Amino acid sequence: MHTKCLIIGSGPAGYTAAVYAARANLNPLLYTGMQPGGQLTSTTEVENFPGYPDGVSGQVMMDDLRRQAERFHADIRYGSITEVNFDRRPYTALTDEETAIEAETVIIATGATAKYLGLPSEEKFKGLGVSACATCDGFFYRGKDVAVVGGGDTACEEAAYLSGLCGKVYMIVRRNELRASASMQKKVFRIPNIEILWETQTKEVLGDGKVTGVWLTGKEGDKKISVSGFFLAIGHHPNSEMFRKWIETDENGYIKTVPGTSKTGVEGVFACGDVQDPHYRQAVTAAGSGCKAAIDAERFLVANRL
Ligand code: NDP
Repeated sequence: MHTKCLIIGSGPAGYTAAVYAARANLNPLLYTGMQPGGQLTSTTEVENFPGYPDGVSGQVMMDDLRRQAERFHADIRYGSITEVNFDRRPYTALTDEETAIEAETVIIATGATAKYLGLPSEEKFKGLGVSACATCDGFFYRGKDVAVVGGGDTACEEAAYLSGLCGKVYMIVRRNELRASASMQKKVFRIPNIEILWETQTKEVLGDGKVTGVWLTGKEGDKKISVSGFFLAIGHHPNSEMFRKWIETDENGYIKTVPGTSKTGVEGVFACGDVQDPHYRQAVTAAGSGCKAAIDAERFLVANRL
């Protein structure tokens, strides 16, 4: 199979790239990956994506984006790309069904995966009080007490954000210090409704249909806190492994792009969405970067008369 534009991934970045590439007559071929629709399909309500004044479920929003791409005849395939080779153009890729693809340009939109603790109770309450995105879900916990796990910049940022919406915000930190930058630490130390529980780990998320509290274990033994929301902020894992042989990433695995563009170090290979964004990780920023990637791909094809 040969395509002018192969898009890998089906979150807001991948589908937006597909809409733009399809409307530019690139006849893009998009492989969804194992979770069609990406991370948003495991959140509940999305209220901060422009254009949905009443909010929308993550699943419905992603279905809308897919249908929008299909309307312009993007070729969307349910399956995964398992191998790529960026040695020379046309680049090649292999799918999980062993289909070989040749692509003049490739848009990487494989996203990132939030890390979870791995507790069965955490899994049980995903979307029912357990969340890995305070900016997405914090609003639902207005006036309520919540907990944030982690001590890095993300945890501090999320705790600070939640402190403006919620009652009390507990930070559950496994060591006796934060990993976050000094300025971020200063910020959370100054916020009166954030309480840091040092050298503390989560044993179990408690609830009855939805989260009601957390069992903790720490240097002073076990204790229970009552919270309605339990936010994971222990890092994200960018899904970039497959590309690292060819494409430069930062020390955390995020794909490096030329600032202000979606260009990677390999000509004709572009990256967008969370796989190249350690900072914002929002659906709308991912969609915006998907648009940029499609425009960059189109310009590359025109410049190379492909
Ligand atoms: P980090 O890896 O920096 O921090 C992860 C935090 O989670 C650490 O405190 C770590 O503890 C803790 N943790 C990890 N695993 C567990 C576990 N199983 N149980 C309990 N705690 C755990 O991830 P971030 O997402 O915070 O940041 C990623 C990168 O993005 C960093 O480079 C960060 O600086 C950057 N970033 C920058 C921002 C900014 O500049 N505004 C905002 C957000 C992120 P421990 O310290 O003990 O390992």
